[in-house]
Amino acid sequence: MDLFSDIRKICRAGADVSMAEHTSFRCGGRAAVFAEPAGEGELSELLRLLSGSDTPYIVIGNGSNLLFARDYAGVAVHIGRALDFIERKGENGLIAGAGTMLSRLSRAALEYGLSGMECACGIPGSVGGACFMNAGAYGFEMKNVLREVRSMKPDGSVIRRSAEELGLGYRKSAFMDSDEVILSAEVSLAPGDRAEMEALMNDCTAKRNAKQPVNLPSAGSFFKRPEGYFAGKLIEDSGLKGLTIGGAQVSPLHAGFIVNVGGATADDVVQLMHVVQETVMHDHGVALEPEVRIIG
Ligand SMILES: Cc1cc2nc3c(=O)[nH]c(=O)nc-3n(C[C@H](O)[C@H](O)[C@H](O)COP(=O)(O)OP(=O)(O)OC[C@H]3O[C@@H](n4cnc5c(N)ncnc54)[C@H](O)[C@@H]3O)c2cc1C
Repeated sequence: MDLFSDIRKICRAGADVSMAEHTSFRCGGRAAVFAEPAGEGELSELLRLLSGSDTPYIVIGNGSNLLFARDYAGVAVHIGRALDFIERKGENGLIAGAGTMLSRLSRAALEYGLSGMECACGIPGSVGGACFMNAGAYGFEMKNVLREVRSMKPDGSVIRRSAEELGLGYRKSAFMDSDEVILSAEVSLAPGDRAEMEALMNDCTAKRNAKQPVNLPSAGSFFKRPEGYFAGKLIEDSGLKGLTIGGAQVSPLHAGFIVNVGGATADDVVQLMHVVQETVMHDHGVALEPEVRIIG
């Protein structure tokens, strides 16, 4: 593949890479190319090459909300360590690179005595993925703290937008309808009491550990919360807890999670998703929409 050697001239890249190794579900298809630009310069060159050759690409952060349902014939562009940084901005602001883990940003905020991101401490995503998804937990959502996001267009140019321009809603952002790559995010926090902040973080972590199957591969809550309901409760009320197809299972601990109990294929997960959706529609008349981004 000529394109592959061109990509290799720009940045580190592998061919025919298993996405199971790069996603928290630990299952799924292979990407034709997995590219790891080492910074904004390489990313800009890579995006220009890909858009010039009409090659599809998808950005991967920490892979904690992704399922590759089949092989992906394009380029998976990994935003990780290359964009992993945190800087202080003024009294109450922090700027974090898109590849920074949200948990690290939440910890850094605690160290600076800046409150607002305590409940983000257990979300296992990158800052880029969290902006894209408007990730949230226990009353926190990115929308509450985001001030500005820098992103790169396919032509390699960089733009800045205020949070108000990002169409943030429940697990929704304007990035879902664009082909931009998030580079960094600025959050605006408030001075807080470190002991109280730490207690809140511990409380969120304890709730998560008690109520979620954190020791099994998954992509978190599989379905979005339908208006007026909780997906997990509807699934549980339909008697689906523990339902297993191949290696995919509706978690007996939290019915909103589909977990990989060992050797699951993406097909197992997708089949189980359909059974859950059909049963909940039949029993409760409610359509469950996946929160997990299913590729392919
Ligand atoms: C055990 C577990 C618990 C979880 N708990 C929560 C929770 O409490 N709350 C919650 O909201 N989510 C939760 N999640 C889901 C997930 O962690 C979040 O959605 C997270 O924000 C995804 O970030 P990521 O870096 O892993 O993104 P990825 O999974 O890598 O990507 C998700 C989407 O974002 C896009 N994307 C990623 N980075 C960029 C970038 N730099 N530029 C442009 N697009 C990008 C990808 O293309 C993809 O469409 C959980 C997941 C797991 C496994």
